[in-house]
Amino acid sequence: MTSISDRIAALRASFDSRKTRPEKWRREQLYRLMTMIEENEGAIHEALQADLGKSGFEARMTETGTVLSEIEHTLSKLKSWMRPTRFSTPLSNQPGRSKVVHEPLGVVLIVAPWNYPVNLVLTPLIGAIAAGNCAAIKPSEVSARTSELLARLIPAYLDTEAFQVFEGGADISTELLEQRFDHIFFTGSENIGRIVMTAAAKHLTPVTLELGGKSPCIIAADSDLALAARRVAWGKFLNAGQTCIAPDYVMVDETVAQSFIEEMKKAIEAFFGADPKASPDYPRLINERHFDRVAGMISGGTIVTGGETDRAARYIAPTLLTGVSPDAEVMREEIFGPVLPVMTYAALDEAIGFITSRPKPLALYVFARSRDIQNEVIARTSSGGACINDVVMHLAIPDLPFGGVGASGMGAYHGRASFDTFSHARSVLTKTEYLDVPLRYPPYSKTKLRWLKRFQ
Ligand code: NAD
Repeated sequence: MTSISDRIAALRASFDSRKTRPEKWRREQLYRLMTMIEENEGAIHEALQADLGKSGFEARMTETGTVLSEIEHTLSKLKSWMRPTRFSTPLSNQPGRSKVVHEPLGVVLIVAPWNYPVNLVLTPLIGAIAAGNCAAIKPSEVSARTSELLARLIPAYLDTEAFQVFEGGADISTELLEQRFDHIFFTGSENIGRIVMTAAAKHLTPVTLELGGKSPCIIAADSDLALAARRVAWGKFLNAGQTCIAPDYVMVDETVAQSFIEEMKKAIEAFFGADPKASPDYPRLINERHFDRVAGMISGGTIVTGGETDRAARYIAPTLLTGVSPDAEVMREEIFGPVLPVMTYAALDEAIGFITSRPKPLALYVFARSRDIQNEVIARTSSGGACINDVVMHLAIPDLPFGGVGASGMGAYHGRASFDTFSHARSVLTKTEYLDVPLRYPPYSKTKLRWLKRFQ
């Protein structure tokens, strides 16, 4: 079998051949990726069902459909993104023209997690293709069925000289990270993000780190509680809580806390029935390890609804907790499962103070009718992205960059941001030969200095 380093060398040779540069080639690869999904959507959804118990609807909404929309958006904008961006040239450099050309970076590495194992492999790949790169792709070994399927499909549809899939776990990742790449795009946990960034530093390779964290959700007293509860319950229990931007915990105004909890119970029952285990729409935890981790967090508070678990089925009911201590594990670690602590606040200041005293989250949500509350929360906190009166949906806006800040990551993607992430913005100044103002050349003089001060 060909070694990893030989396979990366082959990708580099393809990049150097300049085959990835023409717009036509990039479009063709994007169309092939689209065909790959369209022709295999059934098999992809089956694999997602086997790995995560995802329903066909959820798989379409958050995986295949999302990727297809991203391809369509990219195809519709690619020409304009590839066009050089022109800038004005100051008098001191006239006659001259200034522009930025968007160059592909070269051979990039994409490392993906298991929770959205199609979306989080293919969405970064769309950006890499659009910007004209070759890519080494490392899906997660944890979502085994889906990753195996992608490892079979990608070479059957895309140009294998430009795109290679590497199957395996930490061992393969480690070996890949020893190679020199021109960019590393990593989605996963903070701890592994550190390992990736350390390895990248050795080759001075730039990184995009799409990490996680504890995304808070504030519910103000004036909000539409039934609507807020429906949206929070949907965003939290989507993929059984295994979503990087799921609301991790709620901070609700104490005057409406009880009503909000009642509305949450109603929403959960409306979505999944009295026994969510029997619902075909309610997914499962990915494996026993994550089941044990999340089930262990339930004891961190008082169960107000849910709490049932079944290890053999990797099932944890949609669970709400109250009376949670800020020091409990469920409030220290990213939950990444269907357990939602509901904390209360007496004054908005308190909720904001709690959020800002912790690492910057990937997302932040606020439900409030008052513009003042909405504005205050956004102005006084920081997070990768945010929604006002909704959760998760900011990810679905094609022109909004998606990424973290601080501990939740660095860099961004989706739409134009993906193209920029995988491109080098190269500044090019073109001068003419017919005028050469001698001002900048020695010998310098007081007169020249006077002119310099005027022009600079
Ligand atoms: P993970 O960090 O365990 O694994 C991610 C990838 O890294 C996998 O492909 C894995 O094989 C690889 N890996 C594992 N050990 C490695 C090592 N020692 N060296 C190099 N690579 C290694 O993450 P996960 O459990 O798959 O995913 C869950 C995490 O991902 C959560 O923290 C979640 O918030 C985050 N996440 C973030 C986003 C985002 O868009 N920001 C999206 C999804 C998930």
